Amino acid sequence: MNDMISIIKEELERIHETNTFKYETEIESAQSAVVKVNGKEMVMLASNNYLGLSNHPKIKEAAIRGINEYGHGVASVRFLCGTQTIHRDLERRISKFLGKDDSILFSSCFAANEGLFASLFNEPLGREEWQDVIYTDQFNHASIIDGLRLCRSKSTVKRIYKHMDMNELEQLLKEDKDKDFRFRLLVTDGVFSMEGDLAPLPRIVELCRQYGITLTIDDSHALGVIGDSGRGTPEELGVLGEIDIITGTLGKALGGAAGGFIAGDKELISYLRQKSRPYTFSNSLPPSIVMAAIEAFNLIDGDSSIISKLKENTAYFRKEIKALGFTILEGIHPIVPIMLGKATLAQEMAKSLLDENVYIKGLWFPVVPKGEARLRTQISAALSRDDLDRALSAFEIVGKKMGVIS
Ligand SMILES: *Cc1c(COP(=O)(O)O)cnc(C)c1O
Repeated sequence: MNDMISIIKEELERIHETNTFKYETEIESAQSAVVKVNGKEMVMLASNNYLGLSNHPKIKEAAIRGINEYGHGVASVRFLCGTQTIHRDLERRISKFLGKDDSILFSSCFAANEGLFASLFNEPLGREEWQDVIYTDQFNHASIIDGLRLCRSKSTVKRIYKHMDMNELEQLLKEDKDKDFRFRLLVTDGVFSMEGDLAPLPRIVELCRQYGITLTIDDSHALGVIGDSGRGTPEELGVLGEIDIITGTLGKALGGAAGGFIAGDKELISYLRQKSRPYTFSNSLPPSIVMAAIEAFNLIDGDSSIISKLKENTAYFRKEIKALGFTILEGIHPIVPIMLGKATLAQEMAKSLLDENVYIKGLWFPVVPKGEARLRTQISAALSRDDLDRALSAFEIVGKKMGVIS
């Protein structure tokens, strides 16, 4: 035991030395456009609270209604006594929103991704001996990577293609075309979290159709965020209805608390209820979260005003931060990376911005490539024009002081 602790201690020191230690800042208020840290009000530019629902009065009311009508928790997994009518209501709501047959809830999208692949690929379905292939973008989310790790390596061939490299993907598909694979699946993030860039879905759809591949996207950063009605990357890129399996989170735009799901064909969803281990052996989502998520869909379904506000805020911030002279990664997503280059610069600038009452986080190697350190800003519909302007003037002050802009 002592040995273990001393080895861990060395590793912690190494993490500190390489500047990759993740500090947690305590927030003394609700997650919102403006939060309280050390007694000071700060403009929040680091949360996934894209629609501002994490502290929205209607969402809070719905959560309280959930507790009052259905209690704090169900103390059970779904198939024992953990399915309330509201769980099925939410599942139907999600599948209707996404245009899929059905959906299945998990405690998080991490759990959904852990529960998807192994339940299909490790099972003797259709054949006694088999080999499957999965194509995966190198920058896919950690939960997809872990989900794929749960597949037995001797029967699942994993083909990792360079981030969004459609030529390499096509090459791999060609090489595998005549091989006797049982299942062929491709999985990609819809929006990638470090860059805010969108997977080239139209081309991916085309390739998947041509080569008979089941297409899965994890649209966690896109649902409720992009597409005219918030239906995510497929809507934004004009391929709504072309995706076989969609996974996503309720912990970002759609309330920000917790919960994830998989949406797809009814047979698949029905099968996952039998075989997906994080579903079968883990507690049902609590009623407060379920009711709040239903309310989140009520708020955005048929009324795109919050999503329009988010788009407006994003366009404004992107335009104004560039006008100040900062370099950003171009795009349309509310993730706006401000590129600084050196890790030390990103670290110091994040710290100075905190002093100027802007809550922001920097990213540097190994989270992003060497020499591409950045501040990742995330815009929310909850931010007022005044909040954005205060943040922008803090950027101007700090940027000039540090010689990033002139
Ligand atoms: C945030 C995120 C997740 C994890 O979602 P949780 O519900 O918080 O577990 C999974 N996949 C992607 C692409 C994400 O961005």
